Amino acid sequence: MQFNTTDLALAQEMDNQDQLARFRDEFVITDPNLVYLDGNSLGRLPKKSVERMRQVVEKQWGERLIRGWNESWINAPHELGSKIAALIGAKPDEVLVCDSTSVNLFKLVISALQYRSDRRKIVSDVLNFPSDLYIFQGVIDLLGHRHRLELIPSHDGVSISPASIIELIDKDTALISLTHVAFKSAFMYDMETVTELAHQSGAVMLWDLSHSVGAVPVDLNACSVDLAVGCTYKYLNGGPGAPAFLYVRRDLQKELISPIWGWFASQSPFSFELNFTPADDIARFKTGTPPVLSMGTLQPALDLLLEAKVNRLRDKSVRQTEYLIYLADHWLIPLGFTVGSPRNAEIRGSHVSLRHPEAYCINRAMIESEPPALRVIPDFRAPDNIRLGIAPIYTSYAEINLALQRIRTIVEDEIFKQYSAEKLLVT
Ligand SMILES: *Cc1c(COP(=O)(O)O)cnc(C)c1O
Repeated sequence: MQFNTTDLALAQEMDNQDQLARFRDEFVITDPNLVYLDGNSLGRLPKKSVERMRQVVEKQWGERLIRGWNESWINAPHELGSKIAALIGAKPDEVLVCDSTSVNLFKLVISALQYRSDRRKIVSDVLNFPSDLYIFQGVIDLLGHRHRLELIPSHDGVSISPASIIELIDKDTALISLTHVAFKSAFMYDMETVTELAHQSGAVMLWDLSHSVGAVPVDLNACSVDLAVGCTYKYLNGGPGAPAFLYVRRDLQKELISPIWGWFASQSPFSFELNFTPADDIARFKTGTPPVLSMGTLQPALDLLLEAKVNRLRDKSVRQTEYLIYLADHWLIPLGFTVGSPRNAEIRGSHVSLRHPEAYCINRAMIESEPPALRVIPDFRAPDNIRLGIAPIYTSYAEINLALQRIRTIVEDEIFKQYSAEKLLVT
């Protein structure tokens, strides 16, 4: 993809021609002086979610009280799951909205290890999100250290080569669990090839879609993926702490069992049997009462993504990350930055990490500068990554241009030196 000028006018021209531009108006955007490039950590608030939340609280809870369960709440994990299924190439009855990503991962990892109980190895990689790695370590501890975790190395800290995956997979591998788009570098696996490798060795394949869903096309059924989990508060714009989702391929649903035998996982929660019998379908991966209020925002948020269409979102995202890297090459590389993400768009998700020795202070200057200076919100990932997330449903080309101009000024004028290197609790 070629761009011939760093002028803001080109960005404005691309915005004018952008078929998805109208979706930006569907989101609450109150501060004209703020460029938000953190939709990969916490997506923006859809306007329709505000209305919907009011309805759930005031009407459903306030007026309908416990009748709300039969009227809509009880099926929400399945109904929202079927909308997510449409975004990730799954059947409506293969996806459930419940719990957090970490808890869902815990449930599915244990069920996969029990299913492949003759095998002892979990394979993951060094680029994976720490919570995922901690879950594997905790599961191994819980199951009495019968299993071991082996991590695929990365030669450059940015990507993983197919050859190093093959080296680790063998006949003792029970589970391969990887994050499709790496949280730090945005490296993206070829899901089909890796899943195929897993199946050739007889291992179960589990994908974490937290940084993929809503930003890059995923086709779980076409790739014969066994299991998956993911977040709804990143590109899906479900709001802080919105519940996560899990996917279990239909033919595996009766083979696997969740380690948490809560009443919602049972065949008939309201018959109050004394002994547990698991539900026949995906419901067996539920735990307890679904978080109705936290799920309230999800329906309008998912409808927006379905309307925008993942393929169109991906086209825009690729163009925008290419544009961001083009501007970085002109303005920021000369100032000591390096690109911490793959330069090949085919193996890159929807964010770009820029690395700099002073990244933390630059990051704080971007967020905390006093008006009239433009504020830019990225996030910081240790040790030196400024992560710029593109949420193609609402990020504009002009914002990318202005944000990179601002980073250039902060470094050129040494504005970052006024900011403390002391880390805040959440970065
Ligand atoms: C964001 C993210 C999580 C978060 O898990 P929570 O349980 O929601 O805190 C887990 N895994 C990956 C890969 C993520 O990107």
